[in-house]
Amino acid sequence: MDIQKNVKLCDKNWFKTGGVARFYAEPINVHDVVAAALFARENKLAIFILGEGANILISDEGFDGLVIAPKNKQLIVDIARATITVGAGMSMPQLIRDALDLGLLGLEEFSGIPGTVGGSVFINIHYFEFLLSQFLIGATVVNLETGEIKKVDNAWFNFGYNQSTLQQAPWFLFDATFQLKLGAELETAYARGRSHEIIRHRSRRYPKERTCGSFFRNFLAEEIPFMPGKEKVLFVAYYLDKVGVKGALRVGNAMVSHLHANMLVTMEGATSADVIALVRTMQEKLGAEFGITPQPECQLIGFKEYPLHR
Ligand SMILES: Cc1cc2nc3c(=O)[nH]c(=O)nc-3n(C[C@H](O)[C@H](O)[C@H](O)COP(=O)(O)OP(=O)(O)OC[C@H]3O[C@@H](n4cnc5c(N)ncnc54)[C@H](O)[C@@H]3O)c2cc1C
Repeated sequence: MDIQKNVKLCDKNWFKTGGVARFYAEPINVHDVVAAALFARENKLAIFILGEGANILISDEGFDGLVIAPKNKQLIVDIARATITVGAGMSMPQLIRDALDLGLLGLEEFSGIPGTVGGSVFINIHYFEFLLSQFLIGATVVNLETGEIKKVDNAWFNFGYNQSTLQQAPWFLFDATFQLKLGAELETAYARGRSHEIIRHRSRRYPKERTCGSFFRNFLAEEIPFMPGKEKVLFVAYYLDKVGVKGALRVGNAMVSHLHANMLVTMEGATSADVIALVRTMQEKLGAEFGITPQPECQLIGFKEYPLHR
């Protein structure tokens, strides 16, 4: 497998900002992944796994290590059991379309959410009451420190809201198996209609490009100060709406979307420093008004120091 040097990352993430990767690899099979991990170990390099870059902000200084961007997209279908095993590099929207074409239902609840299967399992993507972990029954993972390849079940992931084991250990998701439901013709037609409806609904509510989706995660109850006579609101967008940043706050070439107060968009010429300065301003506004400091759901990559307020 080819390991490239000094590869631009600004065309490989949704914000379209950020510097270069010192080394870059696109494995298509599990042996490539192990070879890339070995290369990193021999050269004492940090590793970052890149999906579609739909939930990351890369530092303008880039990533001083090895970026591994999985490109394995194979699909293994067991119609009798209604399961699909899919490579981590497959895009979720494509997987949803393929599943519907096969009459396999369930994943259409995530229609319109960009990203690869790897990135989606990492964060356990969610939309209203649905979590991806409700469908995942097994996976193949690689330990990037030891090269160990193992089969794991749903419990191994310790899934929660925005949470999975992939976030703590040096684990690489190689493929994932989803348990779906084999639908009759009418059910499949209904599911397809639902998928279109979700995409239409989302396109009115969220920006479609140069964003990472929700920038901040919602609050935990203990992060919100007690307000006598008031119930705690955990939705970060509720507070951001109240300080009037939506469609109004801009720093350099980054601004808060006019569609959603928790979604930031970049414009031509934007840098990641613009996004960071905008985010810090938003944190300061919520700190001053409500005494709360929201933290990112978006992953920050390649920053030498944590660039936001804690
Ligand atoms: C317009 C828009 C709307 C969105 N709406 C939603 C939404 O409704 N709900 C929701 O939950 N999210 C939403 N998101 C966030 C985003 O779609 C998801 O987080 C998505 O799963 C990111 O996938 P990715 O491949 O782009 O991952 P990346 O952004 O490339 O990476 C994200 C993290 O996953 C890790 N990762 C990637 N692949 C692997 C792998 N194979 N093994 C281990 N770790 C890996 C990366 O190292 C990184 O830490 C939205 C984003 C956008 C841009």
